[in-house]
Amino acid sequence: MGKPVVAIVGRPNVGKSTLFNVLAGEMISIVKDTPGVTRDRIYADVNWLDRDFTLIDTGGIEPESKDIIISQMREQAQIAIDTADVIVFITDVRQGLIDADFKVADLLRRSGKPVVLTVNKVDNFDKFMPDVYEFYNLGIGDPVPISASSRLGLGDFLDEVVAHFPEHTGEEEEDERPRVAIVGKPNVGKSSIVNRLVGKQRVIVSNVAGTTRDAIDTEIVHNGKEYVFIDTAGLRRKNKIKEELERYSIIRTVTAVERADVVLVVIDATEGVTEQDAKIAGIAHERGKGIIIVVNKWDAIEKNDKTMREYESKIRQVLSFIPYAEIMYVSAETGQRLPKMFDVIDMVIENQTLRIATGVLNEIMTEAVAMQQPPSDKGKRLKLYYITQVAIKPPTFVIFVNDKELMHFSYTRYLENRIREAFGFRGTALKFFIRERK
Ligand code: GDP
Ligand code: GDP
Repeated sequence: MGKPVVAIVGRPNVGKSTLFNVLAGEMISIVKDTPGVTRDRIYADVNWLDRDFTLIDTGGIEPESKDIIISQMREQAQIAIDTADVIVFITDVRQGLIDADFKVADLLRRSGKPVVLTVNKVDNFDKFMPDVYEFYNLGIGDPVPISASSRLGLGDFLDEVVAHFPEHTGEEEEDERPRVAIVGKPNVGKSSIVNRLVGKQRVIVSNVAGTTRDAIDTEIVHNGKEYVFIDTAGLRRKNKIKEELERYSIIRTVTAVERADVVLVVIDATEGVTEQDAKIAGIAHERGKGIIIVVNKWDAIEKNDKTMREYESKIRQVLSFIPYAEIMYVSAETGQRLPKMFDVIDMVIENQTLRIATGVLNEIMTEAVAMQQPPSDKGKRLKLYYITQVAIKPPTFVIFVNDKELMHFSYTRYLENRIREAFGFRGTALKFFIRERK
């Protein structure tokens, strides 16, 4: 299962971004930059006491007027309710409580989602504690005092957040069904694909309060085997502000991808591959998920014997950071090649759960080193001692070397290619950690 998702909600200036940056930046942020992908920090990976979670800042741009604060907060709260496992509702001890806080608290309470009521700017616990008690009036539990900017109370706060995560005992409800997220820009055909696979028109869930994200998971049985499709198309927002819409769609994508084994990145053949597609694919890559690029509406373009190759080369160019991704050309309209998608999904899952014996890996590395000398710097040459696989989903390898600094990105890439030549690993990212052994 994916990591828990924690969403931050609160009105402007209570300290949402300050808290986000403190948690994301200093308490270990393991998000690496993906080539060609730029984004502001809407989400980050956080680790606390061996629990990993994805943190999301639902706060968007500053509203121009006070009247729209309430509607904007409702919107944020709804996003959090739709996507998060735990909601952090931030208030400000200095501004005190306002009407909008009560409205949001009501909405959150009715959702039934766990809420951590956080009171920020408690820069001096002795002095401000009496004011913190006022926040019991919101009726959503015990207020947790913090000071984001002075980093006070953050340990207790994180304990409280983590306490709401589902217990991972490992045994109960071990869900073996492949989980497939279907992502992409609006109108590329995500819903059409799911509907076609389901075989009948599915009812799209409306965004009424209390609608949970699970409502848009669709179970599909193919050849007697069950798959869970996680669809980001179901909930649509009528927000007119472009930045807000984009933020929302990134949040939806991140949370869907987080819960998936394999991600179908749907591209519209009539439009071709775009930078926005790259941004979306980058989210799946960063998270180490299996990736299948699904070029949809293949029925709607003029084709000759070169078309497929031309598409492929353009896609490989724009999405150059995921050369391992599978590509499929389908039509939700005619159903062309859709059944084959299940075989590709199965293949990708098999690859991301593949375990290679250490002996075999080391043979390949020794051979690779013999064929291409490792880099050196100032007379010192990189020595590779040992490689071993430490995890699956994605397959993750540790390479022990004499000096980390000497391990160039390009040499890791070279080793990755040799490993791929030997074992395929099509459709899945591979991760490498370089460790020094003295
Ligand atoms: P956002 O609009 O909710 O994202 O709020 P920001 O994170 O931008 O913070 C708004 C203002 O509150 C900034 O001037 C911050 O420096 C300040 N601030 C944030 N956290 C604290 C805190 O713990 N104590 C105090 N005194 N100020 C804070
Ligand atoms: P979503 O926003 O990604 O879920 O996209 P929809 O499934 O709502 O599809 C957007 C539009 O593209 C609709 O008008 C569909 O009828 C059309 N569409 C979807 N798939 C195909 C396809 O394979 N071929 C053609 N010609 N049109 C398609």
